[in-house]
Amino acid sequence: MGKECNDQDHDVDLKINNSESDRLNISRVPIILWIVFIYIEGIIIQNISTPLPLRSLLFSLAIILHVLLYWHVRKVLYYGSWIYFIIQAGIIFLSAFLLPVSFPIVLIGLIPILIGQSIGIYYQTKKVVLVFFGFYLLFCLAMIWHHDGENSVLFIGLLILIVIIVAAYSILFYKQVNARIRTQNFLNELELAHQKVEELTLANERQRMARDLHDTLAQGLAGLIMQLEAVDAHLTQGSSQRAHEIVQQSMSQARKALADSRRAIDNLRSKSASEVDFADAVREEAQRFTMATGIRTALDIKIKSSVSRLLIEHGLHIISECLTNVAKHSHAKNVGINILDNQGKIYIEIRDDGKGFNPDIVARRSGHYGLIGIHERARLLGGTIQINSTAQEGTSIKVEAPLTKGDIA
Ligand code: ADP
Ligand code: CA
Repeated sequence: MGKECNDQDHDVDLKINNSESDRLNISRVPIILWIVFIYIEGIIIQNISTPLPLRSLLFSLAIILHVLLYWHVRKVLYYGSWIYFIIQAGIIFLSAFLLPVSFPIVLIGLIPILIGQSIGIYYQTKKVVLVFFGFYLLFCLAMIWHHDGENSVLFIGLLILIVIIVAAYSILFYKQVNARIRTQNFLNELELAHQKVEELTLANERQRMARDLHDTLAQGLAGLIMQLEAVDAHLTQGSSQRAHEIVQQSMSQARKALADSRRAIDNLRSKSASEVDFADAVREEAQRFTMATGIRTALDIKIKSSVSRLLIEHGLHIISECLTNVAKHSHAKNVGINILDNQGKIYIEIRDDGKGFNPDIVARRSGHYGLIGIHERARLLGGTIQINSTAQEGTSIKVEAPLTKGDIA
């Protein structure tokens, strides 16, 4: 039996857990059918040999009470399993004494059922054996008291046989019920896990959408504003030629932002990234940045290995977010971008000599998704990100990621 080794007398007597009550509920109907069968047999045998109408009526009432207790076994067990067994045994023995002829049939028919039920209630060998011996002793005493000489010996032997059969059947029955309950529990857990996965997928999807929107629309617009500001400045200074150049660039950048946004909205990942050379793309990005902001960029790019599509996509977004931040927040004069690969890893660093910031304080502010986005991208690459920033000295953002985290996006 499942919990044999767990024989401590903890609260099982007073409270039963769900699977125990399920077990009992399922076994109620067959038990009651059996009781009805024994009842009918008892009444017929008694009244054929010696009709006892009043006693038969009392016997019927006792059996009705017995059945009611079986039906409400869960509620009665709440007050204690021993109380339940004592009441049921009391009813069985008293009702048996009401019908002298059917006496052994009633006892032999009903006691094994109670012992079988104890398997369902306790599911522990020790307690079941105790119930069995208790009832068996009572049965023997009752038989002796009943003075049925030879028959007593026969019935005492018969009871053991029936109890063995009922016990074997009960064990099989409750095992089956347990398996069913376990399967049900397992299905419930599976359902819960499924819901969790769905929730997480939705949350991930929302996060990804927020990041994509930031990286395409917000970033694109921020870039355009910076370029428009530059155009404005050049026009004020009268250098319309330079302003014209920037407008041309802005137009191509606006088209790119529009395409990126469309791609994000269509939930498609940029396939063209694989056709782009990472180093070239970074150079272009830096050029655009310097053109728009006037901040000098020093590039040091040494990439020997081929870079996956996923890495290009996320790497470019990280760099462009860092550059946007430099332009928006840092008041820097110089930016340095270093990229190199070594022993299966890529190292990207974006430095500025601006005013710096406190990453711990910034991390707690809501409504700013740029840094969260680059952390997320580094995580998706299987890499890490490190932000070092000192007030009035500048900021350095370092990304370290494996080159091999392939094109699984
Ligand atoms: P947002 O750019 O929308 O404000 P971010 O998450 O990109 O959000 O940045 C959070 C904050 O970190 C910025 O508001 C800014 O205060 C600070 N920050 C980020 N990068 C830099 C930088 N290079 N120099 C100075 N401050 C920065
Ligand atoms: Ca930002």
